[in-house]
Amino acid sequence: MLRQEVAAGSELGKQAKGFMDAGKLVPDDVIVGMVGVRIRQQDAKDAWILDGFPRTLPQAEALDRNLPPSAAVSHVIYFALPEQVLMGRLTGRRTCSKCGAIWHLESKPTKTSGVCDTCGGSTTQRSDDHPDKISKRLEEYRTLTAPLLAFYRSKGLLRELDANRPAAVVNQELLKLMR
Ligand SMILES: [Zn+2]
Repeated sequence: MLRQEVAAGSELGKQAKGFMDAGKLVPDDVIVGMVGVRIRQQDAKDAWILDGFPRTLPQAEALDRNLPPSAAVSHVIYFALPEQVLMGRLTGRRTCSKCGAIWHLESKPTKTSGVCDTCGGSTTQRSDDHPDKISKRLEEYRTLTAPLLAFYRSKGLLRELDANRPAAVVNQELLKLMR
């Protein structure tokens, strides 16, 4: 979304570009402004989903201020997973460098190790998915993102999903929670 706005040269895109060119993080208000613009577009008229956003309390508060009452957040889904299981899912993940298909060493292995079944490209591990990087992300999650649980719980919006089950079951459960 950020890249699109910058490429389109919109007012928010220009603001964002200024920060990016200066090697700075784009501030929450600019990002949330973009989300606000995006969800007012025609294809988001009936519904929209934010995946992995907001990640901090200030972002969540800015998002609330930015949304019209008719489009306020209605459901927040928390995919609950023990850290050890999460670690296994992330460290085993492999991505095809050619077509972007996602594989997993244990739960979705390729027929030939390191070779994508779909296109024959080579599969690699995202640098983000190395154990030390994951620990850092988890640390960030605990301090910055976990407070969102209480925030959305107090608003009566939080729905907890036990994600430590097969994907098909989680998917079914998720669809129920979104009703
Ligand atoms: Zn591929």
